[in-house]
Amino acid sequence: MALDPCHFDSFFFCYLTFFFVIPTAGRNLLSEQTNFILTATSHISTTELWSLLEQVTDPEVPVLSIIDLGIVRDIQTGPDDAVEVTITPTYSGCPAMDVISINIRLLLLEKGFKNVTIKQVLSPAWTTDWMSEAGKQKLAAYGIAPPNPVQQVCNVQLFAEEEAVACPQCGSFHTRRISEFGSTACKALYQCNDCQEPFDYFKCH
Ligand SMILES: [Zn+2]
Repeated sequence: MALDPCHFDSFFFCYLTFFFVIPTAGRNLLSEQTNFILTATSHISTTELWSLLEQVTDPEVPVLSIIDLGIVRDIQTGPDDAVEVTITPTYSGCPAMDVISINIRLLLLEKGFKNVTIKQVLSPAWTTDWMSEAGKQKLAAYGIAPPNPVQQVCNVQLFAEEEAVACPQCGSFHTRRISEFGSTACKALYQCNDCQEPFDYFKCH
């Protein structure tokens, strides 16, 4: 059976489009974007850097950015594309901080900042009050109960007696703590008495 020339043409056109035209266009677009980014870096304001760092997420709770968490305390820019980012770990020795530092550095290098300094500041200590309202909503939508305000319930004695934590599934306060540690040391494991769903609670401190 002879190959219909029309189909052959369209097949060949598709072949050309998929294996040549699209990748070439993609490469051109990419190099234009890269050039734009490289030439534009010196004009990135500190405000833009704050929104850029929204792209760096918490490895333990990927729906939260480090800006949502409130661990970025300061961003300073200097001559020759220098940037200094000050971060405060959620708790001393938090293993996620190394990953976060590397990811901040990689993102800024990718955007053309060749001189990146990440400064860790332990004092004042991070508190869950620094988490943004948007961050708390994202946590609840992700199925983790967001931390209660520190001044309301957070002290060691109260935590030992269990906090009134709302179930992220049904909103019920009829919940109980199953374990002081959830999927990570920052979280406690709770269960809802109404809908029976177990859930992580982001411990306030
Ligand atoms: Zn529930």
